[in-house]
Amino acid sequence: MRVELPPTAGVPLCGGDLVPRGESDLAAAAAAWLGTDAALLTGSGTAALVVALEALKTLAPRRRTVAVPAYTCPLVPLAVVRAGLVPVPVDLAPDHFDLDPDALATAVDADTLAVLPTHLAGQVADVDAARAVAARHGAFVIEDAAQAFGAARGQERVGLAGDIGLFSFGVGKGLTIYEGGLLVARDSDLRAALRETAARLLHAHPLRETKACIELLGYAALYRPSLLGLVYGRPLRRALARHDVIAACRDDVGTGIPLHRPGRWRARVGVRALARLHAVHATDSERAVRRVAALAALPGVRVCRGVPGSIPVWPYLLLQLPDEICRDAALAHLWPSGLGVGRLFAHALPDYPFLHGVVPAVTIPHARDFATRTLTIGNSAWLDDARFARIVDVLQQSLRTRATVGTG
Ligand SMILES: *Cc1c(COP(=O)(O)O)cnc(C)c1O
Repeated sequence: MRVELPPTAGVPLCGGDLVPRGESDLAAAAAAWLGTDAALLTGSGTAALVVALEALKTLAPRRRTVAVPAYTCPLVPLAVVRAGLVPVPVDLAPDHFDLDPDALATAVDADTLAVLPTHLAGQVADVDAARAVAARHGAFVIEDAAQAFGAARGQERVGLAGDIGLFSFGVGKGLTIYEGGLLVARDSDLRAALRETAARLLHAHPLRETKACIELLGYAALYRPSLLGLVYGRPLRRALARHDVIAACRDDVGTGIPLHRPGRWRARVGVRALARLHAVHATDSERAVRRVAALAALPGVRVCRGVPGSIPVWPYLLLQLPDEICRDAALAHLWPSGLGVGRLFAHALPDYPFLHGVVPAVTIPHARDFATRTLTIGNSAWLDDARFARIVDVLQQSLRTRATVGTG
């Protein structure tokens, strides 16, 4: 049977997680885990962002724009629009996933409601730099930690350095209840604004909840190499066969953003899985650090890392290759191979057809470059050393393609 590895390291669920008993306050458990005393559970990371922005609007009703990385999840600008605001894509720093400080300084002004430094790939972004720019103009900082639940800087988990932190418990984001999100804030006024806004916007939705429960059961059953091909590998290879990169990246998001609260059963599953997260992070990190060292030996390959001294989590490794030809040569072999290799987001935000007219067409050369030269390697425990060695082989061949093609 064909083996299919996941593109991100998740927390596999156990049969015992699914028992309908036990603690169901996932927000409280997650807050305690993060080292803060309150959090708010939402139906998705995107819904969390809508709630965060609507809450900030009540505090600064005149401000109309939100500065977002030009390379991020396409749901982010859709959430901004859903909140009645205008997303302003900010270019990345050269060869980095983080916001470019100069581009940010240009983009933020008295009209900016919030800036979204984003911890991609479990790596820690420079929230202090974003805070400094935001503070000059009285804008808020929302840390997008959708991909980095549990990462830390110094003694503090990410999500707590800005005004608001948001996380995702969506499928493919590590700890998952199939669809879910979390909001944290330290300031008591902001917390009150978030609570009031959530009470106004989020509602129980029995039908949607039933569907999410079935999907979570499906995830528990199928999140293993022998079965993942059915739900992940097959649609992926079909998308690749028709050259649909957006579908292959699972970026083909609907434009509707459901605003509902996860039910108790899914919250309980999350609480139980959370109890294993420290252990999962420890083994993920040990594996990743070894592999980062092996990849660093390849000429021209860089593994993207966050701010020095920070403690990332490792759902996958984000690699930057010397150029697009070489990246695409590697992906031609690896993406359909079932080894959990792929791309993060298909494009920089202005380059998604469905975001035309939503995201202004600004100049974002570094974000575009980053989109064309990066690939991801899933850091699941199933990617054993032999399979990893096959990936390294293909990368080496692709780097040679580049030498012979001579793209200079
Ligand atoms: C996935 C993701 C989101 C949205 O989270 P969902 O739970 O999928 O709605 C937001 N930002 C980033 C960076 C993400 O990767």
